[in-house]
Amino acid sequence: MTSDGFSSARLAPRHAPEPSPVHRRRSPADLLVRLRGRGDADPVTHVERVPARAGVPAPWPQWAPEELRAAFARRGVVAPWRHQAEAASLAYDGQHVVVATGTASGKSLAYQMPALATLLTDPRATVLYLAPTKALAADQLRAVAELELEGVRPACYDGDTPRAEREWIRRHSRFVLTNPDMLHHGILPGHAQWTGFLRRLTYVVIDECHTYRGVFGSHVAHVLRRLRRQCARYGSSPVFVLASATSGDPATTAGRLTGLPVAAVTEDTSPRGGVTFALWEPPLLPSADTSSDAVDLAPVRRSALRETADLLADTVAEGVRTLAFVRSRKGAEVVAANARRALDEAVPGLGERVAAYRAGYLREERRELERALLHGDLLGLASTNALELGVDLVGLDAVLICGYPGTRASLWQQAGRAGRSGQEALAVLVARDDPLDTYLVHHPEAVFGRPVEATVLDPANPYVLAPQLACAAVEAPLTPADLALFGDGAKEAVQELVEAGALRQRPTGWYWRHRERPEVDLRGEGGAPVVVVESATGRLLGTVDGGSSHFLLHPGAVYLHQGVSYVVDDLDLADGCALVHAEEPDWSTHARDVTNVSVASVRSYVDAGPVGMFLGEVDVTSQVVSYQRRRIATGEVIDTRPLDLPVRELRTVAVWFTLSPESLTAAGVETADVPGGLHAAEHAAIGLLPLIATCDRWDIGGLSTALHPDTEAPTVFVYDGHPGGAGFAERAYGTAGAWLKATRDAIAECGCESGCPSCVQSPKCGNGNNPLSKPDAIRVLDVVLANLPA
Ligand SMILES: [Zn+2]
Ligand SMILES: [Zn+2]
Repeated sequence: MTSDGFSSARLAPRHAPEPSPVHRRRSPADLLVRLRGRGDADPVTHVERVPARAGVPAPWPQWAPEELRAAFARRGVVAPWRHQAEAASLAYDGQHVVVATGTASGKSLAYQMPALATLLTDPRATVLYLAPTKALAADQLRAVAELELEGVRPACYDGDTPRAEREWIRRHSRFVLTNPDMLHHGILPGHAQWTGFLRRLTYVVIDECHTYRGVFGSHVAHVLRRLRRQCARYGSSPVFVLASATSGDPATTAGRLTGLPVAAVTEDTSPRGGVTFALWEPPLLPSADTSSDAVDLAPVRRSALRETADLLADTVAEGVRTLAFVRSRKGAEVVAANARRALDEAVPGLGERVAAYRAGYLREERRELERALLHGDLLGLASTNALELGVDLVGLDAVLICGYPGTRASLWQQAGRAGRSGQEALAVLVARDDPLDTYLVHHPEAVFGRPVEATVLDPANPYVLAPQLACAAVEAPLTPADLALFGDGAKEAVQELVEAGALRQRPTGWYWRHRERPEVDLRGEGGAPVVVVESATGRLLGTVDGGSSHFLLHPGAVYLHQGVSYVVDDLDLADGCALVHAEEPDWSTHARDVTNVSVASVRSYVDAGPVGMFLGEVDVTSQVVSYQRRRIATGEVIDTRPLDLPVRELRTVAVWFTLSPESLTAAGVETADVPGGLHAAEHAAIGLLPLIATCDRWDIGGLSTALHPDTEAPTVFVYDGHPGGAGFAERAYGTAGAWLKATRDAIAECGCESGCPSCVQSPKCGNGNNPLSKPDAIRVLDVVLANLPA
């Protein structure tokens, strides 16, 4: 326990007593033996031992004032770990730095040291701290306030800050904690009121900076450039200190995010308990269990959700404090409900020690669940990845990961919740029935033998750059020198804003022409969140992001909240509100959409004889048109019902390949099987893309056709599901050979006869997985790989 306090610069489980064990604790290896011994076939495909690591302490840096050392000591930190001291000293010397180390490695100390030391020694200096969520900023505020340092006056400045307090904070706080949204909407537009603060700004801390990825990350990159521009105007040039989860090449990513040269500290020197990490493939169901009406006769595996729920029930019954990560909000609810039911059957009342947690919950509900798990009132929690964000739930005995979270970076972050210093823990990755998960549990080297991915963001996305330049112009006219700050494409974007009448060019720069400011939402690409309200009581149940609302909250959809089932009566998109009533039908609902893609322009291509590989802009139109009702018990399709939802349009970036019909014929693909081969290859390629880019399957869309009007050839498109693209298709194009080779292998190595969810079927197919041809998908990919230059 001593080394925990030693490392902990976070508000960690220090406050929490040890959970009361139900039984004596088992070692992770024993626990795993018990878990895997339940059925006939061994579900474990691989066990990796992640060894314990001793911590490497370092002395306090010379420059750290005695007052600060004493304050940390009062909090239980007697000396920093070496990575903390190293990053802190770089920052104190004026070097922009990113510290990218594991969960609970004490990254906050790395930025608190130089920032607070400077505030103590320079009575005029100020610090700006940015977190991706208000909750994380509030946690950091508590941590800094607890140090009780004279004259620092830390304060949160966000949407919840009362008007009355705002002026005091602007004038007197020297450590302001906020989020990129508030910086964008409030602080930068009102920079004139922040003159004193910005003029003396010495450090900008960017916490959890790996969350700034894709389109959101590209927006934040420009918000930071706008901040740097205002600082320069007021005469300051703050040092940027970034904290990141472990990620590939953090120096380059942090450089892209800030636009500055950034040094990286990546060696984690905090102590860690050993982890036994198992890869787990749920068993095939006996064929009698599959629905007789199902169109396909493919073998079906036990669902990862059911398997995870059983594992959760088993570990909780053993008295093991367990966190289960589940990809979807719905999935987390299902896992919690099933585990509760199983536990209650065994020991009435034991089910109460399991709950569900996800981002859509109201803050009070979430805090209560966190508290209960830390104190041991709860033993099992099924969570979406909302927990990845700075919530201090570490030191668990077991972590179950239901389905690969999309990146090795996320996988390690989730697994990092397990294990306290000096104690062994268990982590289990439960494979879902999809191509990527199946590939990974049979290729452990792809999980354990490779570095984690780099975070992908693209500040040059014109859909981000133009609105951000407009925001910057409102704050102060843009000058030619500013264009270099905003990077590639800024000149073209300004020109377009001039032509559109938004900017006017004068000798002193480009001026915003309108009275109102441009409306730019950093995270709002999917539209405003939709609130879910129970009609009978008016109770607010939660929120769903706009992008998912058509799929999750269409009329007739079954919506789960804390294990209680509701049915949607009405979705009002104009008001951003869905009305629901409590009802527990014995079916689940699955929305379907139809999609069209047209090519707008080609950015780059490879002409490989009968094969063409392209990167370019496309226009995608899609519409959720119907939903299926399926029996929960069997998965049997009851019926398909039409929906009347508006079409949504998207200009984005796609990678696509074409093949000549002759090359397909020569490879043995019958004309009638071309659509099935392309479609199956498309599904699997989308499923494997997360292997090479920091995206997940749901960030990506696809379309295949035996004859596309724009390419005039058999074509497979894979596109970013975000306006202007997010860098994923670009990454796929850049590594097309490796990506499609892994796709081909995943299909070929799948043990099924004619295609299954583990290889070529897709859970989000708009065509009900029809037509699909597994052998022809392999032939299609062989033609591409044979012709594509290495
Ligand atoms: Zn298969
Ligand atoms: Zn499909």
